[in-house]
Amino acid sequence: MSETLPQISIVVPLYNEEASFALLIDRLNQLIKNSSCTIEVVLVNDGSSDKTPLMMNELALTDSHYQCIFLARNHGHQLALTAGLAQVSCTEAVFVIDGDLQDPPELLGHFYDKLKEGYEVIYGIRRKRKEGVLKRMLYWIYYRLLKNISTIDIPLDSGDFALLSRRVVDHLNAMPERSRFIRGMRTWIGFRQTGLEYERDARSAGEAKYTFKMLFNLAYNGIFNFSEFPVKFITRMGMLSMVGAFLFFVYVVIKKYLFGGVPPGFTSMFLAITVFSGVQLLSLGFIGEYVLRIYDQVRERPLFIIDKVIKNKELQKKG
Ligand code: UDP
Ligand code: MG
Repeated sequence: MSETLPQISIVVPLYNEEASFALLIDRLNQLIKNSSCTIEVVLVNDGSSDKTPLMMNELALTDSHYQCIFLARNHGHQLALTAGLAQVSCTEAVFVIDGDLQDPPELLGHFYDKLKEGYEVIYGIRRKRKEGVLKRMLYWIYYRLLKNISTIDIPLDSGDFALLSRRVVDHLNAMPERSRFIRGMRTWIGFRQTGLEYERDARSAGEAKYTFKMLFNLAYNGIFNFSEFPVKFITRMGMLSMVGAFLFFVYVVIKKYLFGGVPPGFTSMFLAITVFSGVQLLSLGFIGEYVLRIYDQVRERPLFIIDKVIKNKELQKKG
């Protein structure tokens, strides 16, 4: 590669991807050759136990388009991606793809066109998934749930496959939060964002590296990092059970004194149980509100991100 910095960095996290490695590099090489942009590829080995690191080693020593990062152990896809994003040297944008070729690298050109139109986050929207029915259904439900309860507008059916402008990547790198849900963080950052539909291919080879447990962890991060709903839900349940208790109490008292037939001790017992469980839920909700605020404070996201500043002086100069 020439001395000048590449325009685009492609970041690919790899965990035990020896089976699809050769094809991946083949397709990336084609892309590097045919693209009008200068490209570097940042491969991140996420503590693979197969031949992936060996193959990466060899590649890094023979081809200067490739930069390889080896994590000391498996940290999971989101952290592998974070490590890659921290290492890129591109000037214009970072293209994030999976190592199993489910996200076709050849789409870079289309994504890049959108970048040139002024979009800073261009994410892939999966039109069709070639995965099992159960997984597809869970994904479908999850993304809709997340969209409904999250405090930001996380797009439906989009993963980490995206082209991110250099400054979006700089902002991502400057967000120190530890539990990372990158597709949410990039939405949170803002600027002009758009989605491009694409057909998500089946895995080129090997098994899915995301186990159900890992997917659930990721899903949890999405919900708890970007939604206050669970805490609000507790508060609402507390209020609801107190209102319910009060209404039922009125009903029982009327029944007891006007019609009879209420066993002795029932009313007070009933009241004690419902009112106090309501009070407990409500108190949990209140504590939750403080926890939310502490969480917000400790994760130290910037308060806002500035797109641009126009000063009067500049306006005068232009005018
Ligand atoms: N991956 C990773 N670390 C992990 C699990 C997965 O770097 O602990 C990589 C994996 O090699 C692949 C990408 O993340 O390049 C997506 O993984 P996978 O294909 O298993 O996810 P799915 O497509 O099933 O969501
Ligand atoms: Mg995959």
